Amino acid sequence: LTNNDPIEEHRICVCVRARPLNKKELAMKDLDVTTVPSKDVVMVHEPKQKVDLTRYLENQTFRFDYAFDENSTNEMIYRFTAQPLVETIFERGMATCFAYGQTGSGKTHATFQGRRSVFSFYFLPRAARDVFVMMKKPNYRKLNLQVFATFFEIYSGKVFDLLNRKAKLRVLEDGKQQVQVVGLHEKEVKCTDDVLKLIELGNGCRTSGQTSANAHSSRSHAVFQILLRRQGKLHGKFSLIDLAGNERGADTSSADRQTRLEGAEINKSLLALKECIRALGKNRPHTPFRASKLTQVLRDSFIGENSRTCMIATISPGMASCDNTLNTLRYANRAKEL
Ligand code: ADP
Ligand code: MG
Repeated sequence: LTNNDPIEEHRICVCVRARPLNKKELAMKDLDVTTVPSKDVVMVHEPKQKVDLTRYLENQTFRFDYAFDENSTNEMIYRFTAQPLVETIFERGMATCFAYGQTGSGKTHATFQGRRSVFSFYFLPRAARDVFVMMKKPNYRKLNLQVFATFFEIYSGKVFDLLNRKAKLRVLEDGKQQVQVVGLHEKEVKCTDDVLKLIELGNGCRTSGQTSANAHSSRSHAVFQILLRRQGKLHGKFSLIDLAGNERGADTSSADRQTRLEGAEINKSLLALKECIRALGKNRPHTPFRASKLTQVLRDSFIGENSRTCMIATISPGMASCDNTLNTLRYANRAKEL
């Protein structure tokens, strides 16, 4: 991989990232059944059994724009995926980056954590840093852009403002199909540190009152947006989305009605998202954005000449996760397929 491998021509970039086996998987003696044989291929070695009960591994191969193995760093992935998107928002672009995968596969690890550490600088701080670096370039400085941020969560089809004490917000659509999240707080940010503070504020808000942070985040979509405004008018927008976990098997049989409903809502939004990305890739004029709250609030990012999307599919490498991993890879493949 070289630094300037261009994804510029693509409107959609889909890549996959495998994390290393974690302590729990190692303790269970789980086996790593994924390999990344080249920079754009991932293989899953699925355990199968013949009629005569002999066991074998069925190799399944998937090709993406990029495949990142367990040794790849956030820095590297960022450079290939989100960084080119951040640059396009200065050219009036609408850029969206999704982390998609099973709970525990590394979505938040790759994208959202705002922890201040030199060694674990996540996507969002990097994106913020790049925005403020770009702002200083002579061409852009003369535009007198202002930078704003929003941070909200979509949970069970409802929108909550994470920069305003989790206020529940209404989503309205006018006659021109413009979608508005009414009352969403947009905070002006002047430096990377301002962005980090908002991430921490919002992350704190997200998990409050929940028994387990991961249990909650696995069932909601978190959206952080960096907006460029010129004399009040929207100039460009970068959205980073940490999607709800895509594993839903357990939900559909759950005795708890609420859990089943949440699961159905998540399925619906992830299906709608795939269709919207496909529509963007095909340059189709009609985007089926109304099918879910998630796609509805992201509508303006799926339309227009200068919309770009990047999906990072994260996978758990263990044999125990094999079914979920295959589902993730098939979904990511479909999003890409033209
Ligand atoms: P998700 O958000 O998809 O549920 P997380 O990002 O919370 O998953 O990751 C689950 C655990 O695995 C965390 O403890 C995280 O630090 C760890 N992890 C995830 N991805 C990696 C990686 N690429 N390298 C090392 N550890 C990782
Ligand atoms: Mg997470």
